[in-house]
Amino acid sequence: MWDHGDVTTTAVPEAFTEPAPSALFLLGRGVDLASERGVECVGALPSPSDPDLVERARTARAALGGRAVVLGHHYQRDEIIQFADVTGDSFKLAQNAAARPEAEFIVFCGVHFMAESADILTSDAQQVVLPDLAAGCSMADMATIHQVDEGWDVLTDVGVAERTVPVTYMNSSAAIKAFTGRHGGTVCTSSNAEVALRWAFDQVGGVDGDGKVFFLPDQHLGRNTAVERLGLSLEDCVVFDPHKPAGGLTEEQLERARMILWRGHCSVHGRFSAKNVADVRARVPGVTVLVHPECKHEVVDAADMVGSTEYIIRALDAAEPGSAWAIGTELNLVRRLAAAHPDKTIHYLDSTVCFCSTMNRIDLPHLVWAMESLVEGRVVNRIVVDADDAHWARVALDQMLALPGL
Ligand code: SF4
Repeated sequence: MWDHGDVTTTAVPEAFTEPAPSALFLLGRGVDLASERGVECVGALPSPSDPDLVERARTARAALGGRAVVLGHHYQRDEIIQFADVTGDSFKLAQNAAARPEAEFIVFCGVHFMAESADILTSDAQQVVLPDLAAGCSMADMATIHQVDEGWDVLTDVGVAERTVPVTYMNSSAAIKAFTGRHGGTVCTSSNAEVALRWAFDQVGGVDGDGKVFFLPDQHLGRNTAVERLGLSLEDCVVFDPHKPAGGLTEEQLERARMILWRGHCSVHGRFSAKNVADVRARVPGVTVLVHPECKHEVVDAADMVGSTEYIIRALDAAEPGSAWAIGTELNLVRRLAAAHPDKTIHYLDSTVCFCSTMNRIDLPHLVWAMESLVEGRVVNRIVVDADDAHWARVALDQMLALPGL
């Protein structure tokens, strides 16, 4: 998506080196029991040590046949991806669910907001199942509808709301998507954030005018896109902190701002630092650093290429044999990319592991439990968005689908 330089190649590819363990690595592995309590499952959740788990998953999957589709996000574990009919980012998976009206059940191996989007985009006859309800998204949880409504009230009181268009990243709750629909805004993905922002500014006088975008909930995607792609300055961006009165901003700051960024971030991509980039450049001559736009601005600034997970996958597919890469995104995906490209040297950008711990809540026991329950005629962990939110979220999603380039 964003290309800052040329790619060089090295002679002999190196094998992928696992980063060092960190506390996040331990979540979901029986080490931090308080954090793993999660939610109760009706019926018996298979034991992770059950030697027949894979066979049970195969049997349940075969029994469901065309009545179900299993969707697997790129950040899921290998043990889940092996059973996915489709893999992709959140938007591709939601689109895929909508394109399969014959599937009665959508077993969504991702996180809560993704399952909500699938429910919004599919028919009432289809039921979306999230195998573990504890699979949330820390970024989406950083913007509650109560906080965002209060934030909009602040913009209204200051007199800038009528010159402001809300844009929410796909990684937000259905209630936040509905908020943007109600206020004439749109949804964006990490692939189309530039197009969505240009459209939003066009509603209020253009990028060069004095209109504003209220960007939710990922401050980094908003800032990176505004500065790197639209030519706005860092000074044009302010951060609205929902934990402070009036977002921690003065009337003058709100009046002058062009991008009002919600104070949210991804706990996975937010870990990468400019030092990680400098370290890998010192360690690996000629390395190309490729990062996700949810990374901090200084990381994006220091990287060679920036793009969504789908872009990262395509970039590695198109890369020259012998080229060396350092990738700044979730570790499950980077591991699979390294396995798929033995002719290239692929490094993980961070020196310690960086899984999405909530995404990793979906494991084989939960998938087996969800599918076996469906086979037995019991729909578990169904995700349903209330009708009014679903309507307005659909308005915002349809606005996104009408943007050029999708
Ligand atoms: S990787 Fe980040 S944005 Fe994606 S689901 Fe995990 S916490 Fe949320």
